[in-house]
Amino acid sequence: MVGAPGAGKGTQAQILASRLGIPHVASGELFRAAVQSGTELGETVRGFLDQGALVPDKVAIAVVLERLREPDAAGGAILDGFPRTRPQAQALDVALARGGQRVAQALYVGVREAELRRRLSGRWLCRANGHSYHAIDRPPRRPGICDLDGSPLYQRPDDRPETVQARLAAQLPPMYEVVDYYTERGILTAVDGEGPVAEVTDALMRAVALPIR
Ligand SMILES: [Zn+2]
Repeated sequence: MVGAPGAGKGTQAQILASRLGIPHVASGELFRAAVQSGTELGETVRGFLDQGALVPDKVAIAVVLERLREPDAAGGAILDGFPRTRPQAQALDVALARGGQRVAQALYVGVREAELRRRLSGRWLCRANGHSYHAIDRPPRRPGICDLDGSPLYQRPDDRPETVQARLAAQLPPMYEVVDYYTERGILTAVDGEGPVAEVTDALMRAVALPIR
């Protein structure tokens, strides 16, 4: 699954995985799980995360491949959050091919940049319990106050407009390269990610061309 932050890719990946009965393999969670596993590979990952460094492609691919070797992934898996760059996509193909595997399909959840900015920069959380609101899509009844527990709402630094702009500027160009890479390979299907969640899911399921369970 390929998509920008705010495109709803993670949500859709989870839904699809459960509909298709295959694991949802999210790279962020994988790295955390690898660290907790205490394996040699996990210790390598810990070293990079502890330094606040990016996990190098080779290590990231090793972690992904290790996960794909588990029995529940024998019938396939949905990768979410990886690859993030063209070199990662190329390296993943090479690594999978060694085991006679391949990326069968790339699903791109497309959302316009203005809509991504709107979605990402409108999020507010409550201090007490982290209840989530959106300035436009899901405003609280009283401005700045949580409906459920009356605690004040705040905006995470990540969700502030200037940070959102910087994140998108950093993440979109490599993502578009990944989209181009899979397009060139003839395996990319783009789906409009701006509709309601259920509609996006239906479009993705049609794209996967497998029966809905
Ligand atoms: Zn609350």
